[in-house]
Amino acid sequence: MSTGEGAAALVLVLNAGSSSLKYQLLEPDSGTVTADGLVERIGEQISTISHEQGGAETVEELHLPDHRAAIAKAMELFASKGTDLTEAGLCAVGHRVVHGGRSLYAPTLIDAHVIDEIVRLSPLAPLHNPPNLVGIEAAQALLPDVPGVAVFDTGFFHKLPDASARYAIDRALSDEYALRRYGFHGMSHEFVSRRAAEFLGVDYAGVNQIVAHLGNGASMSAICGGQPVDTSMGMTPLEGLVMGTRGGDIDPGLLFHLHRVVGMSVDEIDFLLNKRSGMKGLCGENDFRAVTAMIDAGDADAREAYDIYIHRLRGYFGAYLVELGRTDIISFTAGVGENAAGVRADSLARLAGFGIEIDPDRNAVRGSQPRIISTDGSATTVLVVPTNEELAIARHAKALVVA
Ligand code: AMP
Repeated sequence: MSTGEGAAALVLVLNAGSSSLKYQLLEPDSGTVTADGLVERIGEQISTISHEQGGAETVEELHLPDHRAAIAKAMELFASKGTDLTEAGLCAVGHRVVHGGRSLYAPTLIDAHVIDEIVRLSPLAPLHNPPNLVGIEAAQALLPDVPGVAVFDTGFFHKLPDASARYAIDRALSDEYALRRYGFHGMSHEFVSRRAAEFLGVDYAGVNQIVAHLGNGASMSAICGGQPVDTSMGMTPLEGLVMGTRGGDIDPGLLFHLHRVVGMSVDEIDFLLNKRSGMKGLCGENDFRAVTAMIDAGDADAREAYDIYIHRLRGYFGAYLVELGRTDIISFTAGVGENAAGVRADSLARLAGFGIEIDPDRNAVRGSQPRIISTDGSATTVLVVPTNEELAIARHAKALVVA
């Protein structure tokens, strides 16, 4: 490896989904992004790639049969803009890997053993780990000299206390099959909580925080002195808050009913819970902007969906405020958390008695930087902190390869 601490080495970050690939080329210390892109509908007749570099966006429609073809196409677009990735001095390719189970949690240099382990863990995340692996193998084939680093969505929550992580089911069964709460969006929860402490100039290890990551997927965490003590997602990313297409917490008895009485198969129930639930299931739209427009137009289903979304969010805030005892910082992040001022105001409304007061004018400000939205008198400081999972992955990857 040619790079040393402080060298302006670049990291290519890959986030491979089942039929998509997000990528970003960036410098981890400064966060400067050279290029980023998104490939969608990989494997279908017509795939789309949009690539942004040097202030210009290139969009192409073509057939990309698999992830290797997608990465090769991205490399071709990099080259057409003057960046040959094989010669760009990459210090690492950082891969987002969703599930690391109990065995993989720290950012890890990818070798044959790590690949075997990610394969072994795939039943825990059947929708996510297999495409992550395809991305890893494609990068190894196309950039064989660049070390690959796996950064795990579950990693930050590795030390979740048993009281939060263990399901109250048969102990022997859960131990044998590693059935427990793992938590997800870990890169974001860690990045945002560290950034919040840095922004306020306080010691990360000395403050208690709640992070609400509200995007298409949504999760919350309670973090005590830098250690997560609870999070809303569980063994899979289905548990917890109401999300774009996932409903979060439900009575497990409902699943038996769907199978026995409604006659749905396990695969149909899986599809229902992953794709036809949440805001989409309740009002037909998963994008919060569309839901807001429907509410403004008087749509009763959208209004009710919003109320359910807020009700669940307030339930988790309540639980985490009690769990932490003293909450110094609450941060909102991700697409909805960063942009929907109404969600922030409604989810923390009427909490002055708990020392939490939002300032409406501050909450209305938009921007790409961390900002305070609570009143000066609020005992808990409430922030909007834009997340940046790619930067978090790039920093972890670089830290590992220069160590
Ligand atoms: P993420 O998963 O973090 O990319 O967030 C995606 C979601 O953020 C979208 O589905 C939208 O629902 C939401 N979102 C993005 N921009 C806005 C906005 N300006 N107002 C409300 N919601 C937004």
